[in-house]
Amino acid sequence: MFDELKSDCENCFGLCCVALPYVKSADFPTKKDGGEPCQHLCANHLCSIHDQLREKGFRGCVSYECFGAGQHVSQNIYKGHEWRGEPERAKEMFAVFPIVQQLHEMLWYLKQALSLTETQSIQARLHKIYEDTVDLTTQTPKEILELDIVAHRNKVNVLLIETSRLFRTNYRNNSQKKNLDYIGANLKGVDLRGADFRGKLMIAANLSDSDLRKADFIGADLRDADLSAANLKEVLFLTQSQLNSAKGNRFTQIPSYLEKPDHWLK
Ligand code: SF4
Repeated sequence: MFDELKSDCENCFGLCCVALPYVKSADFPTKKDGGEPCQHLCANHLCSIHDQLREKGFRGCVSYECFGAGQHVSQNIYKGHEWRGEPERAKEMFAVFPIVQQLHEMLWYLKQALSLTETQSIQARLHKIYEDTVDLTTQTPKEILELDIVAHRNKVNVLLIETSRLFRTNYRNNSQKKNLDYIGANLKGVDLRGADFRGKLMIAANLSDSDLRKADFIGADLRDADLSAANLKEVLFLTQSQLNSAKGNRFTQIPSYLEKPDHWLK
């Protein structure tokens, strides 16, 4: 369902590994500025430690997702012309990439919203904004840089919130905490069907054995959250990068369009 909105590093010029900055933290063992290539980026634009990112302390890379923006910017917007040896093009490309990444992320959520039977009453509006968002990704670099991304995101958000309401409408969850976040919360085995985790901090929360069907996970921070044997089969707006940043095991149930991260199966 989401193949064109998945990262394809083989067809990208390693844009996330160059354009974006990172700072020394729990997610990175060192720092670098935006526009500076990561020390682990190879000449072929692939990562030399791809299979050891967690072990080497690059957890931020594991939980990053470009939603296919990298290959789109590299191959469609810049038609296969890379950034090396072209300082002006590089500067522009590194500014265009994060904007297109945000547009692709919106497309990913909109595509899921469009696939749901619960959203029948707003399908026309979803289609319209999906097509408008696609059109924005096909503009010239100059037009993309002039885009009011916040205004467009706000328009998309109205429909994503409505999607969430329609999707969760038959669930009134009394187990959901009223406080602002769930950092370290013990919710083992709790019935959390239909919960709204929109933008919630759920770092290291224990959600093992919990029933999370029909919950909305948009923007939730699941770093080190324990999803072992949890049921996430029919959830809303859960991404591969959120799963990659969490813990789980072979008994965790996930949506068919996502994959269990390798570190869950070791
Ligand atoms: S560690 Fe690998 S994936 Fe992370 S920024 Fe560097 S090259 Fe990219």
